[in-house]
Amino acid sequence: ETPRKPRGRQFFANPGPTNIPDSVLLATAHQTMDFNDPNFLEVYDGCIAGLKQVLRTQHEVFLYTGSGHAAWEATLVNLLSPGETVLILESGYFSDSWAQMAKDLGLEVQMVAADWRRGVDIADVRAALAADTAHAIKAVCVVHNETATGMMIPLPEVRAALDATGHPALLLSDTISSLGSLDYRMDEWGIDACVGGSQKGLMLPTGMSFTGVSAKGMEAHKTSRLPKFYFNWSKMMTRRHRSFVGTVPISFFYGLQESLRLMLQEEGLDNVIARHTRLARAVRAAVQHWSGNNGPQFFCLNPARYSDSVTAVMMPEGHDGDSFRATALQRFNLSLGGGLGPLGGKVFRIGHLGDLNEPMILGTLATIELTMKVCGVPHQAGGVDAALAALG
Ligand code: PLP
Repeated sequence: ETPRKPRGRQFFANPGPTNIPDSVLLATAHQTMDFNDPNFLEVYDGCIAGLKQVLRTQHEVFLYTGSGHAAWEATLVNLLSPGETVLILESGYFSDSWAQMAKDLGLEVQMVAADWRRGVDIADVRAALAADTAHAIKAVCVVHNETATGMMIPLPEVRAALDATGHPALLLSDTISSLGSLDYRMDEWGIDACVGGSQKGLMLPTGMSFTGVSAKGMEAHKTSRLPKFYFNWSKMMTRRHRSFVGTVPISFFYGLQESLRLMLQEEGLDNVIARHTRLARAVRAAVQHWSGNNGPQFFCLNPARYSDSVTAVMMPEGHDGDSFRATALQRFNLSLGGGLGPLGGKVFRIGHLGDLNEPMILGTLATIELTMKVCGVPHQAGGVDAALAALG
């Protein structure tokens, strides 16, 4: 069958980038300005204050023109020195990529191994920290929300493991697919560095990322010796913007001003998080229902850690996730996320974060069910009714 020309609106259910609200899209279309123009500086300063509110921090935030990988790298090179050890909690594709980056940057990487479907055992984290009596581990890195598997790692429990063992390592968290979607409290949870990006919960285009840094993180920065130039926080602090070595991407800030207005003023951060919780419940009710009759299964096998921003769904034996996604896209203009790394073809991912409401989620779920019918994927029909019941 020749692919149809898509008609109607695309349902974009990727776990990032995400849907951009029209008002944010329009706000980003701003004419060029001098980034030192007082009118821009007012917008800029407001955005930094708003971003700190979303991070729930009173401390520093440094920004970069670059996607989440840039903030990962910036965070490591600003806090650590060659040969130092980082302890990385395995969660999936993104923890492993961050670990590979750390190795390539010249750090020693110790992993707390975990089954991707069940997630790390906090007792193993505690044991690794307790065994490190010489305090060789300088930082513990955690992906708060593993976008590849649909699992959330409880950061307060990781903080408690550090506190219980009296270990002085910094706590670094990747909040790329959790910030602005899941509850996140940088200062309250004792996070020393928090890595975020523009294209997920903040509902902006891809291309800007940032790190929130605690006072303890700033102390560690003073003695860090990994090479850095564009990412150097000390260099940034000498500038008016206290960020960006180079031209400030002003259009992002007009967009960010609007997305922060939507999140903090119009909806309220607690309501944003509650909406994600509600919509995630509907998605899970559908997946749970479909899983009958040898249907697709939750990839995540730890219900206490289900992510409220993304659900990874494992295809039944003999059915390929990528061809399933291709059918959803070509026939129905529904864009789903694919499986990453070893999960390629094995799972598809439903992104349920950002600018999203009930009709969008229900449309997505109905179309997934339709695609399963079309592709002959076994499932228990009626997942949309289950989602309706979860919402009603
Ligand atoms: N960390 C997590 C949890 C992610 O989901 C992603 C991207 O999806 C990244 C890091 C990498 O970010 P980027 O693709 O913006 O470089």
